[in-house]
Amino acid sequence: MRYAVRVNFVCVTCGAQFAESNSPPSRCAICEDERQYVGLDGQQWTTLDELRQQHLVQFTDEEPGIFSMHIEPKFGIGQRCLLIATAAGNILWDCISLFDSEVIRRIRSAGGLSAICISHPHYYTTMVEWSREFGDVPVYLHADDQRWVMRQDKAVEPWTGETKQLPSGVTIIRCGGHFAGASVLHYAEGAGGRGALFSGDTIQVCPDLRSVSFMYSYPNYIPLSQAAVTRILAAVEPYRFDRIYGAFSKMTIASGAREVVRNSAERYLRFLTAAH
Ligand SMILES: [Zn+2]
Ligand SMILES: [Zn+2]
Repeated sequence: MRYAVRVNFVCVTCGAQFAESNSPPSRCAICEDERQYVGLDGQQWTTLDELRQQHLVQFTDEEPGIFSMHIEPKFGIGQRCLLIATAAGNILWDCISLFDSEVIRRIRSAGGLSAICISHPHYYTTMVEWSREFGDVPVYLHADDQRWVMRQDKAVEPWTGETKQLPSGVTIIRCGGHFAGASVLHYAEGAGGRGALFSGDTIQVCPDLRSVSFMYSYPNYIPLSQAAVTRILAAVEPYRFDRIYGAFSKMTIASGAREVVRNSAERYLRFLTAAH
């Protein structure tokens, strides 16, 4: 298939948008990586225009000043992203592929965006489109994962080191594990001032909503090492938080989340190190 105009194709399996081209790219490196998979029918592509015709974004109020967005029917990995309204401007935590007029309207009426922070490559999606619409706001992602950026843009600002401080009590914390640069966001004002962690699948909220887990690959069931899990726990231990917003819609641990992370990490390490 060859298009008369250049298009930023979107991978159907992971939702990543690519640099513009007249025909679909030959492969998606994110999906060919052992942490993801190419679908059983082979590599498939779509475009943002097609997505707008077939899908909608669902908006959910999570707590005062925070709402989430996910795509219905499910698209890509089923990601969700969250808008966090801070005193220093709105932060978009993670991103989803569908970006339409309703998204623009909702975010505009909330006051626009001041920054986009992305946990890891499974959420790169159409981050450049979102940035451009809201005044080329910076897209912060960890430099260790930079090679997975499929659509380069001047707004993409890789950061290095272990933490990145943003205004209004927001800290991005590199945990590693799932990806070398896999990060979570801590918002001290979240959960009514008790603190909230936005974890993507660096710290995966489990369906029982009473535990979390940690994997190198979720779809391919590849666990993490003792050292990696210990490091994730150590990275978030200094922060006070009561709530975790996980990777997907409704995957939120409303309270007691700090205890949940510690207990879940200890359970994981017990299984890793058990003699039998
Ligand atoms: Zn892909
Ligand atoms: Zn992931």
